[in-house]
Amino acid sequence: KDLRGEWKDHQLTVALRIRPLNDAEIEEGATTVAHKIDSQMVVLMDPCEDADNVLRANRSREKTYMFDVAFDYTATQEDVYVATTKNLIDGVIAGYNATVFAYGPTGAGKTYTMLGLDSEPGIYIRTLNDLFRAIEDSTEDLNCSVYMSYIEIYNEMIRDLLNPSSGYLELREDAKGEIRIAGITEFSTCNAKEVTVKQKSRVKDINEEVRVGKLFMVDLAGTERASQTQNRGKRMKEGAHINRSLLALANCINALSEKGGKGAQFVNYRDSKLTRLLKDALGGNSRTVMITHISPASSNFEESRNTLVYADKAKNI
Ligand code: ADP
Ligand code: MG
Repeated sequence: KDLRGEWKDHQLTVALRIRPLNDAEIEEGATTVAHKIDSQMVVLMDPCEDADNVLRANRSREKTYMFDVAFDYTATQEDVYVATTKNLIDGVIAGYNATVFAYGPTGAGKTYTMLGLDSEPGIYIRTLNDLFRAIEDSTEDLNCSVYMSYIEIYNEMIRDLLNPSSGYLELREDAKGEIRIAGITEFSTCNAKEVTVKQKSRVKDINEEVRVGKLFMVDLAGTERASQTQNRGKRMKEGAHINRSLLALANCINALSEKGGKGAQFVNYRDSKLTRLLKDALGGNSRTVMITHISPASSNFEESRNTLVYADKAKNI
């Protein structure tokens, strides 16, 4: 099956997940201000009742946002996986690249979605299982390698979540001009029975084409705003870095989408770790899935609004 057209048509998918209210939020009397309206639309309601606040009183108290797919507290881990990531499997096996990244403030559910709990496994485990099953089930005499890595980008620093003790990792450009994460753990397989770490593809016949699909899972940590925390200096820096990654991503996607038109724009991948890493992914036959996370609580309204505004920008480019 030729996936080329299909793969390019869905270059960027933006999803939203609203987690359930948690005990702390219920205890503090928070109400739910983020609601899913349908499979693609959410509404955020400003909880501020302050009539004296002219700025706020004049602003619409409800704002809706559209996504490729939206989930609320009723969504299972399986639902989120199926709607965002499962359909990447065939492409990765066919040699295409894909990146799934989680975005949103601390505590909004990024790690829950990506890693999950033993009883509620997240996207990472489900993807591995399906990748291996698909390779095992394939009747074709498969000649492919699949690499999968799971990383965190925090303050423009990269950590290997499959080997957190390895410290911060650097990006390097190899001889072919491809960006690699030096020392990263790569789950790799040509054969489901043979799950090995850092296995290199074994090329038997040099004329034989080996398809290599790369799948990155990225936890883009910490997007909260400066005003929400005591540690202002540190958080501001964090916010600036997050903006850098996401704005750089927005700029790249923008430039790429213009390339097909008249103005062949320069695509600047160098501006952030995320975009350097996604260079392969965004430039070639690659897909990116961004899963945005928010809390439904009134106490997190400002944070949720900022997150939705960013995600909206990414979606509209
Ligand atoms: P983040 O990684 O964005 O900082 P976490 O994934 O650690 O946030 O989530 C914070 C807490 O909320 C965790 O205890 C997590 O288990 C819980 N949680 C997050 N999302 C969900 C969800 N969809 N359903 C149930 N619990 C969730
Ligand atoms: Mg986390």
